[in-house]
Amino acid sequence: MNAAADFVIVGGGVHGASLAFHLASTGAGSVILLEQHTLASGPTGRSGAMIRPLFTERAYIELVTAATVMFEEWDVIVGGDAGYRQPGFVRIVSEWTDDQLGADLKLFEKLGVRHDRISQSDLSQYVPLGTFHDDELGLFLPDGGFADPVWTTRTLARAAEQAGATIMEGVAVTGVSVTNGRIQAVETSAGRISSPVVVNCAGAWSRDLARMVGVELPIEDHRTPTAILYAPEGYPEGAPIQSDVRNKVYMRSMGANLLRVAHFGWHPDLANPDDFDETVSQEQLRTLRGASHQRAPSMRFTPVFGGFSAIYDMTPDGHPIVGLVDGPDGFWCNCGWSGNGFASAPAVGRSLAQLITQQPLDIDLSFFAWPRRDDITVRPDIQHVHQ
Ligand SMILES: Cc1cc2nc3c(=O)[nH]c(=O)nc-3n(C[C@H](O)[C@H](O)[C@H](O)COP(=O)(O)OP(=O)(O)OC[C@H]3O[C@@H](n4cnc5c(N)ncnc54)[C@H](O)[C@@H]3O)c2cc1C
Repeated sequence: MNAAADFVIVGGGVHGASLAFHLASTGAGSVILLEQHTLASGPTGRSGAMIRPLFTERAYIELVTAATVMFEEWDVIVGGDAGYRQPGFVRIVSEWTDDQLGADLKLFEKLGVRHDRISQSDLSQYVPLGTFHDDELGLFLPDGGFADPVWTTRTLARAAEQAGATIMEGVAVTGVSVTNGRIQAVETSAGRISSPVVVNCAGAWSRDLARMVGVELPIEDHRTPTAILYAPEGYPEGAPIQSDVRNKVYMRSMGANLLRVAHFGWHPDLANPDDFDETVSQEQLRTLRGASHQRAPSMRFTPVFGGFSAIYDMTPDGHPIVGLVDGPDGFWCNCGWSGNGFASAPAVGRSLAQLITQQPLDIDLSFFAWPRRDDITVRPDIQHVHQ
């Protein structure tokens, strides 16, 4: 194959597919997306795929809010079914502080994010089968939900094709040609593709891709476990997603009878995304189940269905790297989402497409620029290191 495109996107996870859709929709030029395996075969396919604007920074809140609007109208805006459900999202805390909530309620007010403070006596309406400590309260986000990450990615990719993009699965980028400080082409397992623009949406592999153009990104891949448990008897279908600060776990339904349970934050466990242990240990399952039955005693006796380990592409501060980086002209990044990139992806693609094609931005992405601005601090929830 000898081909050419105005824009080459590397990576068919949710971010690559979203960008392909929005970039093709601008009509600014030809778009090719290259995926080494199959769409959503990386961390995207394992994602909890929860969508909730629980952040202390405006950019994230605006992006997740815009993405929520897209999910709500997916069939009209993108086309097809993203498996979206909107049961709401409840955070159980002991005080309504930014630190406990992982959110800034003043910003919520300013940006019009719908939220309800829940008193101790009402918590059981939102947390089925739960028991509570005297000091516990809740925050309910009625617009919180989750999607199917594979369907989300596939429908975005199909919409990109409808808008004129070419999606190539089973094609790996093996090198990037640069002449006089400008991107010229990508070398792939299927031949060369000339292009002045390459966008690194390679997720867990994005550090390797950046090295092909001599750019060093501070991204490390770490394993993270998820348990899948049967829902206990009496657990209602369509219950809100639970995010439990005391026990540092979140839990959401997965089909009618199963629940996925995982920790907040992350645990250092470096992994090679091409060859890592995807299983979950008995000890990890015990810890996750233990955390869930601290909240709901009936979780103690419900059978384990299984579990898996997947990868977070972590940056040192837990924020992604989005935009042009210090490298050859035409080399863009959208990576390092640090275990938190699904919710915003449908909207990030739109703003990044605007940035690349020099159109006015609907959401400012400069918070995610690399090198970082001096005033940017570590994302609060990545400070929780679990065992
Ligand atoms: C267990 C788990 C739970 C999560 N839960 C949530 C959640 O509830 N909410 C949330 O917002 N986020 C969540 N996340 C994070 C979110 O899923 C990720 O941030 C997001 O999916 C990353 O998408 P991506 O497209 O950037 O990267 P990836 O999914 O890593 O995709 C990158 C793709 O690039 C391809 N690729 C790499 N190198 C090359 C190459 N050289 N040539 C061609 N193709 C290449 C790969 O094969 C891969 O398919 C979770 C993540 C995990 C692992």
